Amino acid sequence: MNRRYHTVMALRLFNTYSRKIEEFEPSNTAERPIKVYTCGPTVYSRAHIGNFRAYIFEDLLQRHLELRGYKVDRVMNITDVDDKTIRGAREVKVPLARFTEQFKQAFFQDLDTLRIKRADEFPCATDSRFITRMIEMIGTLIARGLAYQADDQSVYFRINKFPDYGELAHFDLTQLQSTGRVKHDEYEKEHIGDFALWKAWNEEDGDVKWDSPWGSGRPGWHIECSAMSTALLGDQIDVHCGGVDNIFPHHEAEIAQSEGVTGKKFVRYWLHCAHLLVDGQKMAKSLGNFYTVPDVLVRGYTGRELRYALLRVHYRVPLNFTWEGMNEARESLARIDQWLARLREVARKANAQRSRPNVQRPTTAFEYALDDDLNISAAFGYLFESIRETNRVFDRNEMDPASATAWLDWWKQINTVLDLEAEAEIVIPPEVTQLAKQREDVRREKNWKRSDQLREQILELGWEVRDTKQGPKLARRTSSK
Ligand SMILES: [Zn+2]
Repeated sequence: MNRRYHTVMALRLFNTYSRKIEEFEPSNTAERPIKVYTCGPTVYSRAHIGNFRAYIFEDLLQRHLELRGYKVDRVMNITDVDDKTIRGAREVKVPLARFTEQFKQAFFQDLDTLRIKRADEFPCATDSRFITRMIEMIGTLIARGLAYQADDQSVYFRINKFPDYGELAHFDLTQLQSTGRVKHDEYEKEHIGDFALWKAWNEEDGDVKWDSPWGSGRPGWHIECSAMSTALLGDQIDVHCGGVDNIFPHHEAEIAQSEGVTGKKFVRYWLHCAHLLVDGQKMAKSLGNFYTVPDVLVRGYTGRELRYALLRVHYRVPLNFTWEGMNEARESLARIDQWLARLREVARKANAQRSRPNVQRPTTAFEYALDDDLNISAAFGYLFESIRETNRVFDRNEMDPASATAWLDWWKQINTVLDLEAEAEIVIPPEVTQLAKQREDVRREKNWKRSDQLREQILELGWEVRDTKQGPKLARRTSSK
């Protein structure tokens, strides 16, 4: 990459809406945080690593905005009612809420494994507060002639009444008419492209239904995001993200619904993450190349290694996931670890002599690369180039403590974005080990009350006991209570 980073003046992002790189200008700035909405998982199965590539890109966006001094207010929705969740629950004959709960939990576990920062809120579509809002929005759209109830009792958005429909996807509606395949069960719609806002109840939905002015039924997927985003972030959002496969129809529909109700521009910057391929192919269960986070961990890799592998390619470029790539991730991280160890060793030296004039110091190239539409490949390029250069200084025995400290301070700063440092070796304090041992003893005596007291004491010291198949294990406390 020949681009000179010092010429980049401000954060620039590729906006899918305009198909252009645009300078990022937050509205109202100072007191107000940047409002970011990111489409979250549909909890009908465990999310796959392709989903997590998009979530890691969104994590990078948030962390870089924060590095640049912005406050970020981020919402990620959870789709816990749709065709797939209902079908899944029916197949295993459990209530919908119980069926989706396991995948919600798995999702949060995977976020932690990959060190993805939690959004400020994770609203669920089935929350009555949002169902109410969806029904209100649909009512408004009908009143404005933008939606109608068809013979099948479902309510559809009338795309012919929304002139901007197709702008995001750069889609021509006439093409949709001529090439769109008519599904036999959608004959009631006025236009093939009209999408469901409210799906009338049918037998297969079982007890999954809510009352509405149009009879009982459930919301369509698109209206869920319009309702939750505007309810939590307001009528206008700064940045809306998702995978490229969300552009049409999902995000196009979100614009039509939200703007149809509020009359205001819904989103200022639309950002979309490219696909993840596995061995050069689209990931599919039928091809046997479909992986979840635990599928990768079970092969002996760490969450940190997977984070690196999913992070290292620019978000608008398809990422090819391979096991060789995972090994490369491991090697790259080892280089970072060794470099940090070297820096720390020199920085610790007490006789802090003056820094030598010729020893390289960090520049702002890393941050500038990220300002350039989150060019993480260039940012890593600078990091590894710096590692090579400074390693040469080490080899000549010329690294001085002041320069080593400067590099460590720089690493600390860029690691707020990367979050790739090795976990410090866990040292369990002796009093915690002692309490855990006592707890085991009283449990053998079936003294549950005392056992609970001991567990509380351990929690107060910042640790928790997890009862596993291999016996009790101590871990750092993760719960806030
Ligand atoms: Zn969405």
